[in-house]
Amino acid sequence: MTNLTIRPLNTGFVTTVPAEYLYHHSVHPYVEGATRDRIEIPDFAFLIEGGEHLALIDTGMSWTERASKYHHPGSRQPAGMAIHEQLAALDIQCEDIGVIAITHLHWDHSYYLEKFANATIYVHERELAFAQDPIPMYYKSYENAALGITPHFHGVNFTTISGERELIPGVRALETPGHSPGHISIEVDTAAGNFVCSGDSIFCPENLEPIPDLKYDITPPGRYVDAIGMWRSIVAQRDRVADPSYILGAHDLPLLERIRETPVLGLP
Ligand SMILES: [Zn+2]
Repeated sequence: MTNLTIRPLNTGFVTTVPAEYLYHHSVHPYVEGATRDRIEIPDFAFLIEGGEHLALIDTGMSWTERASKYHHPGSRQPAGMAIHEQLAALDIQCEDIGVIAITHLHWDHSYYLEKFANATIYVHERELAFAQDPIPMYYKSYENAALGITPHFHGVNFTTISGERELIPGVRALETPGHSPGHISIEVDTAAGNFVCSGDSIFCPENLEPIPDLKYDITPPGRYVDAIGMWRSIVAQRDRVADPSYILGAHDLPLLERIRETPVLGLP
């Protein structure tokens, strides 16, 4: 048992098409929400308090102009929602953060890292290698210099990891490849049970549900680099938690509603 708690911090809103991102095309006939209407989804980072160090899981997205111009048009980061602004509102300075775990280096999970001067910043070794030399289809996701811009993680001093790894007591990195080559999820032991912050490996709670007509044991999402890894990573995470409410996705829309009542998760 630990005193760790998890505070989801929404860093803005990303526009997305559910039928392209949230649900694989094979499941569209079975999922009501698999529409082509553009929707806004939140973009969560998670603050872990009560441990050996203050820790962050991801740092969220960029400012509006950058997000809308290079990524998903219409995405926005309203005033006060950047990660450093959210921390300041909690009376926490960027320098107070001792550990940052980056689930993957896509633009909407790893902005503003240069502000965290005292943090050990963990990323999977395969993720950093691919982020530095992606195939052109992923130039935008990683803000590659080929686009005439400076990658958002340029100059950051990362600590690379592989395998299952404890970052601070009660906080573990798990390999969950599939959405990206070196995606990791972070398991956090709390007094209320163990949570898994699943990054983009699970976009929405529906991804955890079976589809009996297809003999699927999950509802696969639509965005991944490796379908086999994607599938097995989802099943493995579901198997680690007591029930699906312990899985916290980075773009989990129902989580916005949940934190209105419960801003801090993991209390006894
Ligand atoms: Zn991603």
